[in-house]
Amino acid sequence: MSNTLDVVIIGAGIMGCSTAFELAKRGIKVAVVEKGLVGSGGTGKSSAVIRQHYSNELTARMALYSLRVFQNFEELVGDECGFTETGFLALTAAKDRAGLEANVALQQKVGIKTEVLEPEALVGIMPGIDTAGLAAAAWEPEAGYADPYLTVNAFAQAARRLGVQIYQNTEVMGIRFSSDRVQGVDTTRGGFDAPVVINATGAWGAQVAQMAGVDAPIDPCRVQVAFFRRPQGAEAPHPVVADFVQAVYYRSETGALTLSGLIDPSEAEAIVDPDHFNEKLDPDFVLEAGERIVNRYPVMEQSQSMGGYASLYAITPDWHPIVDEVPANSGFYICSGFSGHGFKLGPAFGLMMADLVTRAPDPLFSAHLFRLNRFAEGDPVRGQYEYSIVG
Ligand SMILES: Cc1cc2nc3c(=O)[nH]c(=O)nc-3n(C[C@H](O)[C@H](O)[C@H](O)COP(=O)(O)OP(=O)(O)OC[C@H]3O[C@@H](n4cnc5c(N)ncnc54)[C@H](O)[C@@H]3O)c2cc1C
Repeated sequence: MSNTLDVVIIGAGIMGCSTAFELAKRGIKVAVVEKGLVGSGGTGKSSAVIRQHYSNELTARMALYSLRVFQNFEELVGDECGFTETGFLALTAAKDRAGLEANVALQQKVGIKTEVLEPEALVGIMPGIDTAGLAAAAWEPEAGYADPYLTVNAFAQAARRLGVQIYQNTEVMGIRFSSDRVQGVDTTRGGFDAPVVINATGAWGAQVAQMAGVDAPIDPCRVQVAFFRRPQGAEAPHPVVADFVQAVYYRSETGALTLSGLIDPSEAEAIVDPDHFNEKLDPDFVLEAGERIVNRYPVMEQSQSMGGYASLYAITPDWHPIVDEVPANSGFYICSGFSGHGFKLGPAFGLMMADLVTRAPDPLFSAHLFRLNRFAEGDPVRGQYEYSIVG
């Protein structure tokens, strides 16, 4: 089979599908090639927290733009994304207070609704919270979470309605070049010809970049998520919490569940084969996450463990993605490496990619910060926190 297209996107996670949607809106002929199913990579297993608490202006603006898409999803994309507004709390100790204040000031400057709260104010937002060890919190009332599977499938459907073909169970095995320009991809279903190929393969990003002869520092790293059922009397949803003191995050889930994961830079060391890794939850992880939650929210002492799973982050050295055409003017693009925080930015990165590929003269979001060369140049994206892994 040979299909002549304008763009082939490898990977049908949130990045591949939102990019396909944005390109198709511009009348560009796109195919998405996915070795599993839509959302079967990191996206489908995402905790899907949607907050704007970022420490550089560009990502803060992108998070705000994306929030507006999630809030108006049916109108802007179509179908449902399951966005649920619960608010978001970032909890910090004294050593991070100055960074928190600087971040909130930056976020307010770009139009994000957020404020710094003293620990005493937190019980009004989260009754039962233990504020020991806290110096300040950031509060974002408009934050929440979405259903990642609904979201990515809605983007895929919206792209299909605009003529995008999505080939599932179709693996890219090679990328073809003629001189310095990309020509297309070879897949388990045959060849697809296109002058532009986008690598949106998340944790497989380095592997697929290698097919184009490009070294991309993207590690597939195993991370875990544990669920707890909240006890009787505490079933009401609570805000999303990123507790930098206890190094744990959690949010409400339907069925009076609390979904949790660790905020742990050492997750970058848990490199695995993305096609063969243990997808089961470790019992130790349940104990660890549970204890950290109980330390802050003692009512969870009576909660019940409800299982969980392991999935993959696609981690780069600075925990920010690589969004770039490499080599320059080759037609081969990377849009991968979103570490633990890409879901909420999916709408904005789809727009950024469409602007990059079409060489839009005045893009809303410049991709320069995310260029591959920043690592060689010693100019990584930096955050205000010691735990800058949250971006
Ligand atoms: C447990 C967990 C919790 C998270 N929590 C949050 C959160 O709360 N908030 C947030 O914003 N972000 C969160 N993230 C991060 C976020 O989910 C990811 O950054 C984002 O979903 C990555 O999307 P993607 O499209 O880049 O990659 P993926 O969703 O992994 O998609 C890549 C796709 O490429 C396909 N593929 C790979 N190789 C090939 C090939 N050779 N041929 C064809 N197809 C191929 C894969 O099958 C896969 O479907 C979390 C991630 C995980 C794992």
